[in-house]
Amino acid sequence: MMSDDVKEVLISEEEIVERCRELGAQISEDYADKDLVIVGLLKGSVPFMAELMKNISIDCEVEFMAVASYSGTESQGDVRILKDLDRSIQGEDVLIVEDIVDTGKTLLKVKELLYSKGARSVKVVSLLDKPSRRIVDIQAEYVGFTVEDKFVIGFGLDFNQKYRNLPYVGVLKEEFYEG
Ligand code: 5GP
Repeated sequence: MMSDDVKEVLISEEEIVERCRELGAQISEDYADKDLVIVGLLKGSVPFMAELMKNISIDCEVEFMAVASYSGTESQGDVRILKDLDRSIQGEDVLIVEDIVDTGKTLLKVKELLYSKGARSVKVVSLLDKPSRRIVDIQAEYVGFTVEDKFVIGFGLDFNQKYRNLPYVGVLKEEFYEG
């Protein structure tokens, strides 16, 4: 079973659900007089986006984008658009929904890209933050949980495209990395 591959559960489903309530309430308050468009980065943000948006009580639009680093397993800092936005965000207040901020390179590029498309403001909500790994100076305005420098899986986060459907955030057993 998939869950047999998990060494430890770091953040339970209940904790994520509760944190999404708080984040949704805060975002609803902060964006009450703005034109909010939430932009999920595929595929990792999907479960977080679903949980978070239920708790946003103001009018907002929902968009998705898919980006990829150019090469290698580490983020390279230059992103390729696999799926672009379906509509203009000119003059809108964009909130990027991300699974984890690691080096920060992906987010920096996506933020620049969304500003170049005419967004009035671009902020970030991330389920997880791994500040110890940061290379570029970027910080998500809203963070669900801060995690140590461990490779995490579940609640959208994958290892070789697996484990995204786990309903919690966990750490994979070492034997699976060594493959
Ligand atoms: P960054 O550009 O911030 O280095 O990369 C962010 C992306 O790297 C995340 O959206 C995620 O896809 C991937 N990533 C970074 N850390 C982890 C991790 O601990 N686990 C998983 N599964 N993906 C990660």
